[in-house]
Amino acid sequence: MSSSTPGTTGKKTKAATEAKAAPRKAASGGKASAPRKAATGARAAAPRKTPKAESHLAMVRRARRINRELAEVYPYAHPELDFRNPFELLVATVLSAQTTDLRVNQTTPALFAAYPTPEDMAAAVPEEMEEIIRPTGFFRAKTKSLMGLSAALRDEFGGEVPGRLEDLVKLPGVGRKTANVVLGNAFGVPGITVDTHFGRLVRRWKWTDEEDPVKVEAVVAGIFPKSEWTMLSHRVVFHGRRICHARKPACGACPIAPLCPSYGEGETDPEKARKLLKYEMGGYPGQRLSPPADYPGKPAPALGNG
Ligand code: SF4
Repeated sequence: MSSSTPGTTGKKTKAATEAKAAPRKAASGGKASAPRKAATGARAAAPRKTPKAESHLAMVRRARRINRELAEVYPYAHPELDFRNPFELLVATVLSAQTTDLRVNQTTPALFAAYPTPEDMAAAVPEEMEEIIRPTGFFRAKTKSLMGLSAALRDEFGGEVPGRLEDLVKLPGVGRKTANVVLGNAFGVPGITVDTHFGRLVRRWKWTDEEDPVKVEAVVAGIFPKSEWTMLSHRVVFHGRRICHARKPACGACPIAPLCPSYGEGETDPEKARKLLKYEMGGYPGQRLSPPADYPGKPAPALGNG
């Protein structure tokens, strides 16, 4: 499985270092200069203007270029939930609803120590499990889901997580997004994960106007070959968490500004924008307590340590 997935190695240090200093690459007509200008404090380069009526073909080309640029910026993109097997990924993904991956990662070590298998979790005392997962919020509902899905795994799948979408979505508390996360990262089955970051960014990039995650998934699936789906999902979510934030995107420090029709929605001043960068881009710890070996940032602290 690809817990530590993807990524290449050679570029990582360079990418991280450069991105930290200043998003390194822009891609307007060719190799652009927006980030570099932003780094020098000069006025950020004007982003490429998206024609009012961009053809579908032009949008697809631009989208694929954004993906290539993101692959260079985040060669180490990966799932940001700690897990060692499909069951742990499934549980962690259910827990991640309405909270951060960091908070989940800080909670799951104790949870998996107490209940390492579906059989153990299905037989838990609910109040005890609730106490353990309390930091992730909605702990009563989540306990119910986790015990229910564990019982279903035990009774219907021999204690194993199934590797098919149609089976996964029948488990209590498991929707299409969770199923795609598990398939893509624990089974190597290509999947597009439309979470809040993914939806926001693809709308900012005008790949689609759809709000419904299932429709967004269908549109994006039509733009990229299957082989790109899982990594594209990680790259887009990485970008959303680090640079293209919901409230204040760091446009002035964004390496794909020249390809983005929403440039200017956030901070365009390069210095101010750089201060908005998060995780390894800003020199801070990441979300995983056990990040993949090629991750250039610092691991997250355990619960209570930061
Ligand atoms: S909105 Fe700003 S930060 Fe987000 S991708 Fe576009 S230019 Fe980059």
